[in-house]
Amino acid sequence: MVTRSTRNLILLGATGSIGRSTLAVLRAHPEAFRLTGIAAYSSVSVLLEICREFSPKRVCLVDPGAAERFQSQVDDSSIEILSGQSGLTELAAAADADIVVNAVVGAAGLRASLATVAAGIPLALANKESLVAGGPLFQEAIAVGKPPILPIDSEHSALWQVLNGERRESIRRILLTASGGPFRQLPTDAFADITVEEALAHPTWQMGPKITVDSATLVNKGLEVIEAVNLFQVPIDAIEIVVHPQSIIHSMIEFVDSSIVAQLSRPTMVLPIRYALFWPDRVPGDDGRIDWNELRSLTFEPPDWERFPALGLAVEVARRGGTAPAIYNAANETAVAAFLERSIGFIEIPRIIERTLEASTLVDHPSLDDILTADATARETARRGMEKVKW
Ligand code: NDP
Ligand code: MG
Repeated sequence: MVTRSTRNLILLGATGSIGRSTLAVLRAHPEAFRLTGIAAYSSVSVLLEICREFSPKRVCLVDPGAAERFQSQVDDSSIEILSGQSGLTELAAAADADIVVNAVVGAAGLRASLATVAAGIPLALANKESLVAGGPLFQEAIAVGKPPILPIDSEHSALWQVLNGERRESIRRILLTASGGPFRQLPTDAFADITVEEALAHPTWQMGPKITVDSATLVNKGLEVIEAVNLFQVPIDAIEIVVHPQSIIHSMIEFVDSSIVAQLSRPTMVLPIRYALFWPDRVPGDDGRIDWNELRSLTFEPPDWERFPALGLAVEVARRGGTAPAIYNAANETAVAAFLERSIGFIEIPRIIERTLEASTLVDHPSLDDILTADATARETARRGMEKVKW
């Protein structure tokens, strides 16, 4: 392995599930990275703890009230405190950053991802909503590979690892695996009674609440299809979803000669995070190691498109392009927040996405402004749609 000097790393979404796993990787490799900046929405006490352990120079709390509370509690007066979306994008493009990890949840991370790419800084991307909503805006960077966009999402990390050294023309199909979520075998007539607690109990992954609900509706797989189309520049018809409940195979590529190559590990996000941070090197680590004496069977089945209508909607919006994916994503974020607040039922989530798409006007070759407007309008449309349902 080539020895590299210590690199400055910025971690957006430091207080979340991916943020915590990223900190675990940094803790294990203190010689490799210096954490110079962190951001979150409003989790003051967790950010204070991270400051005590890692001494970053800059901290952003997007919520201005939380930034004030942080300022009044922090011991180290040399820390620069930023706030708002502008603070987040400023941190995401920090002049001395060697790599930025975007682990913010939702389209709230879009402008930060764009700022990192525009500054020419390698972007380790967990925030899939960036690529879904802003797909057209990333195409140039993706086409030239500079700065690199290093996927953290486990399926896309798998595809990236499998593609190492292969030609794009050699791809016949991407086989995107899906756990199927907690309701894979639940009878359709029981979907109306799904509780928040049941939706938050994922069988194989421990994640933040929004992506956990997305995994239960299969919206997450829908977002990942769009993410794969954008990242690997393949047509939507070249992507097949394979339900694989054990979450051991993280995705596969079928090449034109009919060879299929897969990436496997036990489900853990530490492995794809570490791969993204150290790429193109591989560093030793046991997280995710498979015990072949214990592993008995890997099973596969096709997705149930009827039971999970949000999946088909995602394929439609991927095909439609323009602002359609941004609208799908914004409607879903709004519906999931309402479901988590217990104001709508689980089965309303795909209905709200569908109704919002139907009520929206699409823009074909969107600018950032077009995408931000589509996002804001879709949230409003989705909210109004939910109010009507309550009446
Ligand atoms: P969490 O909910 O655990 O964490 C979200 C993070 O984003 C927190 O740090 C939160 O700060 C911050 N945040 C929330 N809203 C905003 C905002 N408006 N502006 C800035 N920061 C904000 O989410 P996860 O870690 O589970 O997921 C993060 C991203 O990674 C998502 O895009 C998800 O799809 C993706 N991902 C996650 C996986 C996982 O295993 N968890 C796997 C693959 C992808 P605060 O604490 O202050 O609210
Ligand atoms: Mg994933």
